[in-house]
Amino acid sequence: MFHVKHFDVVVVGGGHAGCEAACASARAGARTALVTLKRDAIGTMSCNPAIGGVGKGQLVREIDALDGVIGRIADKAGIQFRLLNRSKGPAVQGPRAQMDRKLYKEAMQAEIAGTPGLCVVEGEVADILVEGGQARGVEIADGTEVRSSAVVLTTGTFLRGVIRIGEEARSGGRVGENACIKLAKRIEDIGLPLGRLKTGTPPRLDGRTVNWGILEDQPGDQIPEMFSFLSNGPTAPQTSCAITHTNEATHAIIRANLNRSAIYGGHFESVGPRYCPSVEDKVVRFRSKNSHQIFLEPEGIDDDTVYPNGISTSLPEEVQREMVCTIRGLESARIIQPGYAIEYDYVDPRALRSTLELSALPGLFLAGQINGTTGYEEAAGQGIVAGINAARLAAGLENATFPRSDSYIGVMIDDLVTHGVSEPYRMFTSRAEFRLSLRADNADQRLTPFGISLGIVSDERKRCFEAKFDKLTQARKLLSERSMTPQQANAAGIRVGKDGVRRTGLDLLSFQAIDMDRLSCIWPELGELDPSVSKQIKNEAVYANYMKRQQKDADDLKKDEKNKIPDGFDYNSIAGLSNELRLKLQKAQPETIRQAKRIEGITPAALVQILASIKREERRPAA
Ligand code: FAD
Repeated sequence: MFHVKHFDVVVVGGGHAGCEAACASARAGARTALVTLKRDAIGTMSCNPAIGGVGKGQLVREIDALDGVIGRIADKAGIQFRLLNRSKGPAVQGPRAQMDRKLYKEAMQAEIAGTPGLCVVEGEVADILVEGGQARGVEIADGTEVRSSAVVLTTGTFLRGVIRIGEEARSGGRVGENACIKLAKRIEDIGLPLGRLKTGTPPRLDGRTVNWGILEDQPGDQIPEMFSFLSNGPTAPQTSCAITHTNEATHAIIRANLNRSAIYGGHFESVGPRYCPSVEDKVVRFRSKNSHQIFLEPEGIDDDTVYPNGISTSLPEEVQREMVCTIRGLESARIIQPGYAIEYDYVDPRALRSTLELSALPGLFLAGQINGTTGYEEAAGQGIVAGINAARLAAGLENATFPRSDSYIGVMIDDLVTHGVSEPYRMFTSRAEFRLSLRADNADQRLTPFGISLGIVSDERKRCFEAKFDKLTQARKLLSERSMTPQQANAAGIRVGKDGVRRTGLDLLSFQAIDMDRLSCIWPELGELDPSVSKQIKNEAVYANYMKRQQKDADDLKKDEKNKIPDGFDYNSIAGLSNELRLKLQKAQPETIRQAKRIEGITPAALVQILASIKREERRPAA
């Protein structure tokens, strides 16, 4: 007699989407089972040991604002923190940190073990139980049934995964783990639209064989920017990365062996991530470049493994060895594990609702790489949405959805379910029409109240959020009530045009050189503010005017959706348009802005540019 277990929600997969989904479901009060192939592989980082970046860092902050786990775990495991785009505006800055791979996994496993209402079941899910047209649980390969009101599938690259190194191919979900064939077949039988995508990873090096002394050092930031609104600073020891480059000799070896690469030898028909290309891709696509940057990233504090970020490859192992030795500092480097490419099944995300539940099979939710995305952060962002909604479905509550205007999570899900994917989807700030307001610094203000209303936020976070909210409200009030004439401002050393206009504290804060410390000297009653509050007030002030313009652009786009795009419109005439979008637009030849909007990968900024260009042409007097 086989076992039968009962839960409210079953989450399949202990990767980045699965952990987030399972924890969110349990936080929402659902009795949750996390069923995964190997208990000790929960929280494994399949590829680069880093979290965050531009766009991705914003996603992590948003998940954290909803009391998700990825941000807190990344803070515990972070060994080098850097704020990317520090010199640019806050809307495009992204927190990023190098992880100690082992610490990350341990911290995630401890988090899962310590989450009330969450239970881990080890095993391979082979079937989805369907009753009355609804998903009602899963069957594990040993025959155990795990019954539930909702199921979240987060199987990553495991569905019919094929690993390729050069001419060799073998079945696998990622290195060292088996692929899942039965579940892929079952998904096919259910009639879900499946496609194939691919991705790759670089060889791992033995750090003891790298000549660090001759390489450029890349230390972390002096003042580390943490992911979680609840973290105060790093807890793990900190380290540096190093920078090196490919060169002509490296490229010559790659070119001479292109036909032996799994990607270029015609072994793959699927599409890979455009923005995370293999080194073969870079050498072919950017012929004129004779060098590409490589970041040598340590995989841990007490681990000698080094991740050479920038040379993902599927060349044969002996060619990888030859290629690596041409690189400065890596002349004697030993490869511990060769790079490889992997091809896997994904489900066309247009089959999903914005809750990530399948339209055709209520009760079954999908999240993560199975939906055609790439990256831990994208996976976690979908995981939290699927986990919340699965728990709400089980409890008979209304859906929780995330509008584009409030979060990158909302942008991502809307992009996926509306446009689908033709290549692995990753987050960029350019995908959002409201990117000036979707900043990393204000993710808590945007999302924590929603998280509180959904009942998924801890008391500790609620207290911290409310205290910060009160300080922000008070500071905004004081700053809008204080004001100065141009004469008073100039007397205080703030250079202002003599236009007779009184400026409030908030107006003055929008000047680049003015910060809260400066204003506190003028108006001591502002007091000393917490750095996160000062930073946010400053960012709000800087963007206040731009945000009006952003809203106008968004409104115009909506209003002018029906505007016609003239036949034969020359997309080359728009300077700011990327080649990728130019090609897509030329191929699709949309007749209206609305049609252009539906093209996968099209950004709001590109649509605004097209619209502006059409309007300019219309205004131009006929010759
Ligand atoms: P995963 O993290 O893969 O987790 C899947 C989980 O499901 C695993 O725990 C597995 O054990 C479990 N599972 C699968 N099938 C079953 C089953 N039938 N029953 C029970 N459990 C099951 N991202 C980037 O951003 N940049 C990159 O360059 C990059 N390169 C990558 C290279 C490789 C080779 C791989 C494998 C991934 C790469 N990624 C990269 C992607 C990144 O690792 C994933 O996007 C991310 O891990 C996806 O998270 P996930 O939760 O969807 O899936």
